Amino acid sequence: MNKGDLVLVTGAGGFIGGHLVSELRRRGHTRIRAVDIKPIAEWHQPFADTDCHSMDLSRLEDCMEAARGARYVFNLAADMGGMGFIEQNKTACMLSVLINTHMLMAAQSQGVERFFYSSSACVYAAEKQTSAKVQPLREEDAYPAMPEDGYGWEKLFSERMCRHFMEDFGLVTRVARYHNVYGPHGTYNGGREKAPAAICRKVVEALTSGSGEIEIWGDGEQTRSFTYIDDCVEGTLRLMASEVTDPVNVGSDELVTINQLVDVVERIAGVTLRRRYKLDAPRGVRGRNSDNALVRARLGWAPSVRLEDGMRPTYAWVLSQMEFDPSYSRSS
Ligand code: NAD
Repeated sequence: MNKGDLVLVTGAGGFIGGHLVSELRRRGHTRIRAVDIKPIAEWHQPFADTDCHSMDLSRLEDCMEAARGARYVFNLAADMGGMGFIEQNKTACMLSVLINTHMLMAAQSQGVERFFYSSSACVYAAEKQTSAKVQPLREEDAYPAMPEDGYGWEKLFSERMCRHFMEDFGLVTRVARYHNVYGPHGTYNGGREKAPAAICRKVVEALTSGSGEIEIWGDGEQTRSFTYIDDCVEGTLRLMASEVTDPVNVGSDELVTINQLVDVVERIAGVTLRRRYKLDAPRGVRGRNSDNALVRARLGWAPSVRLEDGMRPTYAWVLSQMEFDPSYSRSS
């Protein structure tokens, strides 16, 4: 990507968008437009030297304005969260279709050259994820389609919309399927948080309250792979620069159970807690891992940050935030 050309990052007030803007700045991009629906004061990483805007990208007019003059678009905006959010907000998740559809229409109309879309491992067919002892998911396993209800259907539809804009109008599109991305500067409370940040928060809460106990959703034996944010951003930029037209996994293939994720956080925090399993909590699929054969073959790269190495800075960041959060210090 040419460092002097205008890059639009949507969802820039969110977790991955904030890190992407940060990395683009670090790599010398001088013209970055960052857009999110949240007021700028609520962004995870607002940069003073970046052109930041609060806009509603479900509206075509706002997408048109956001895309004006841009050569590259990274479309990360979506109304989403962890399992607790997506299982209970299927309409909101599916309404993100307005964001991607309008962003594609605006990108085409404004002469954007390349368009990146952040899809998800939630597009994969449910029947391939019923056992904790998983076969890692290859890109072709999204079909025949039976993705995650709500959120996953929107992602799969939007992936296809990207392909059609490329086939019908020549807009170059790139699609990554992210697998459980985690790291500092993300949501760790409020209902949209995902397992890694939620477990960090619960461990800190157990330490500050002295309860000695942690609640785990499900029986803790469900399996996942977790992708550190640096790998996610690196994969995003490599994919954007590549000639790979089909959706590709951007995900770690280090498979762990949720219990093992808790073990990691306990080791980092230097504590062992009693585990209370909430069996009726949202759990998602039973097992999921990323098959990285295609990303290795096509990008010559795959995520490599080990879970324990990524969870150290994540835990330290969540702890630092909670130390300054009055609602937590009250309970301590
Ligand atoms: P996030 O919720 O932190 O960021 C998304 C941002 O989009 C939020 O800041 C939100 O305010 C913004 N947004 C929502 N509606 C908007 C609208 N109408 N107009 C403008 N902005 C709007 O989530 P994230 O983890 O940074 O995820 C970024 C993208 O990656 C999303 O598309 C998500 O679906 C996808 N993804 C993330 C993960 C993950 O593990 N974090 C996994 C798979 C896919």
